[in-house]
Amino acid sequence: MLNKQELLEKDSKYLWHQISPHNENPMIVVSGEGSWITTIDGERFFDGMSGLWCVNIGHGREEIAEVAKEQIKTIAYASLVQSHVPAIELAAKINEWLEGNYRIFYSNSGSDANEVAFKIARQYHHQNGEPTRHKFISRHRAYHGNSMGALAATGQAHRKIKYEPLTPGFLHVPPPYCYRCPFGKEKGSCQLECAQIYDEVMNWEGAETVAGVILEPVITGGGVIVPPPEYLQEVRKICDKYGVLMIVDEVICGFGRSGAKFGHFNFSVKPDIVTMAKGITSAYSPLSATAVRAEIYQAFKQPEADAHFRHINTFGGNPVSCAIALKNIEILEKENLVGQAAKMGKLLEEKLARLTVHPHVGDIRVFGFLAGIELVEDKESKEPVSTDIMLKVLSECQKQGLLAGKNSDTVPGFNNIITLSPPFVTSEKEIDFIVDTLDQALECLA
Ligand code: PLP
Repeated sequence: MLNKQELLEKDSKYLWHQISPHNENPMIVVSGEGSWITTIDGERFFDGMSGLWCVNIGHGREEIAEVAKEQIKTIAYASLVQSHVPAIELAAKINEWLEGNYRIFYSNSGSDANEVAFKIARQYHHQNGEPTRHKFISRHRAYHGNSMGALAATGQAHRKIKYEPLTPGFLHVPPPYCYRCPFGKEKGSCQLECAQIYDEVMNWEGAETVAGVILEPVITGGGVIVPPPEYLQEVRKICDKYGVLMIVDEVICGFGRSGAKFGHFNFSVKPDIVTMAKGITSAYSPLSATAVRAEIYQAFKQPEADAHFRHINTFGGNPVSCAIALKNIEILEKENLVGQAAKMGKLLEEKLARLTVHPHVGDIRVFGFLAGIELVEDKESKEPVSTDIMLKVLSECQKQGLLAGKNSDTVPGFNNIITLSPPFVTSEKEIDFIVDTLDQALECLA
């Protein structure tokens, strides 16, 4: 029998929570099934964010538990200095899903996968006769991880305060944010200035110093910021013009969240490097991967002693995690969950549209099965609502049984976007529940 009081005491004495300020009364989650989680008090909540944008196949999958048990019994650990069956099979499967010819390097988290991408890009240019290429360009509002390089790539000032200096060589351009166009343009009547800025920055910096561009297909944690349809292709063209590698961060968008197998499929571009985590195992076990175009991999096969990628981690490609990833992908395929995510996303978009009547709803953006609802003081000024108002709406949702999210801290005052990223197994009835709950929560602001 779980003793809540005892657990809370230990929690408050020993546990260091992530992000949230010291929280004396956290929700203690004990179980989950489908799109719902249950707390120690027996309360059930709809997991509107799939944990942290990751439990895509839903909670409580017996098949995953079975495969984990079998793999642990067979062999729980082998490193990838050697090789093992689940890592080989998964690398082949990821290639099939990517519909390209990629080499797969495994790590443990999205941050790791991006660090690996940066190191590979720099080393590739070195070994490809262009050793001056070391800079990376990312976007303001984007999140790429917590480690010194991935955080340097992140374009959210608030996350960096007190940790700087971070890894040098990271530059940022404005995001393709049509609702608040950084170039003062109207949606649909621009020259894609948000993409052309890469060309300018590469020129100003000296393209021969730029190693890569990193971007998510859709900025997720920064507020579900959907680019114009031609944006990624335009960035691809500029990368090609200057010999810069295009790194696409699919940590959230990958494995169906965008309504396609990978987010970049929606924009018909071929990246040089694709990073992935979260949905690769639906978070049943930690795993990430950096997929690198086979031509780039060739530069690491030169005979010099230090030409190989001199990067190692103990847990990357752990057999249990790889076996879980394979089962996760099998479930996505068998249950057509990518198609289901696209279908449910469309339905969510249609139903959310009714929220536009609320005076505080400035913009609703849905892409695949991701949604961002931007709250403003009034539609005219587009002044973001205060953090207090955001917290009030989220807490009203929670009271009704819905866990919704908010955009990560970007710059002070811009914590104003409700986010949703439900499990792909969400039903039509549950979509109604999400929208009705949000509707009522927004009423409380009237
Ligand atoms: N990239 C993106 C787009 C993310 O959203 C995240 C995490 O939320 C990361 C990278 C970092 O992943 P992790 O938290 O697994 O290190």
